[in-house]
Amino acid sequence: MAAYMEGVEIKFKNLQLCEAEKKGIRIGRKQACSSQVSKIQAVGKLFAERPARAEHVGRTLGGVWSPLFGVDCKDLGRNRFLFIFQQKADKEKALDVGPWRFNNDLLVMEDFVPSRTIDEYEFKTIPIWVRAYGIPIGMMNRETGDLVGEQIGEVIDVDPDVNGDSMGAFMRIKVKLDITIPIMRFITTFTEDEVEQEQKDEMILLGDDEMKEIRNEKKEGEEKIVSFTYEYLPDFCYSCGIIGHTEKSCRTRSRRTGSRQFGSWLRANMYKGISSEERSRAPNNKGKF
Ligand SMILES: [Zn+2]
Repeated sequence: MAAYMEGVEIKFKNLQLCEAEKKGIRIGRKQACSSQVSKIQAVGKLFAERPARAEHVGRTLGGVWSPLFGVDCKDLGRNRFLFIFQQKADKEKALDVGPWRFNNDLLVMEDFVPSRTIDEYEFKTIPIWVRAYGIPIGMMNRETGDLVGEQIGEVIDVDPDVNGDSMGAFMRIKVKLDITIPIMRFITTFTEDEVEQEQKDEMILLGDDEMKEIRNEKKEGEEKIVSFTYEYLPDFCYSCGIIGHTEKSCRTRSRRTGSRQFGSWLRANMYKGISSEERSRAPNNKGKF
C-alpha cells in the first residue's frame, strides 16, 4: 500500500489539480449512525474579523429562517456555528436561499455531515442568483441557462421567464458560487447560426478547399460576450474579486497593477419584479443582518 501511495505521489508530483477536480464527492459515511444524525442540523461560518456570539447569530437568523420555532445555535469556534432546526423546511431555507449576512458580514452555510470534523467543512460556496446579460432572446431557455450557469458554478435553478418589464433583458440563473476564486464577470459565447444546415447542403456542391474555408469560418459562430451581475452580492474585493474580504484587507492587492477589474457594477440592481423567493427575504430582512 505504501509503495502504491508512493507511486501515485511520484506520478502526480508535477500536476496541479484544478478546482473542479479537487471538489470530489463523499460517499457512504453520511449514513453513519448516531444520536446526532437524527437532528436537523447545518453548520455555518461567519466571515467577520471579530468573533460573534452564537446566541446573537442564532436569534437573528433564527428569526428569518424559522420565525415560529427559531433555531438553536452552538459555537464551534472561529466564527463557525452549528444550527439546530425544528423543521426540515427551515434548514432547507438556510441552505438554499441566501447569501445570508449577520451584521453585514457574510455567513456561509453548509449541510451537516455526521462523519465530518468542523475543520473538514470548506464553507466555500454560496447560493446566489446571477443575471446573465447578452443572451439572444430566442435562446433564453433552461438549456442555455444550464450551459451558461455551469461556467460559474453548480446550477441550482434557472428562471428564463424574467418577470415584468425586464423580460428579455437578462436571464436569471441560480448557482452555487465558489467564493474562493474571483467572481466571474463575463463569458464568451459562440452563437450557432440557425441557417447552418442550409449552408451545409450548399457546401456539398463546392470543392474541398472551398468547403474547408467555409467550415473554418462557421466553426465558432458569432462571438458574443455575456456579462453577469449578482443579486444580493455580499461584500467582495474590488482588487482580486474574491468574496469575503474587501480591498482594505486584501493580501494580494499590493502585487496588482493597472485599473481595477472588479467593482460595484457586479451587483444587480434590485427593483420591482422580484421573485417570490426574494420577496420572502425582503424588505425587513434586507440589510438588517
Ligand atoms: Zn482581495
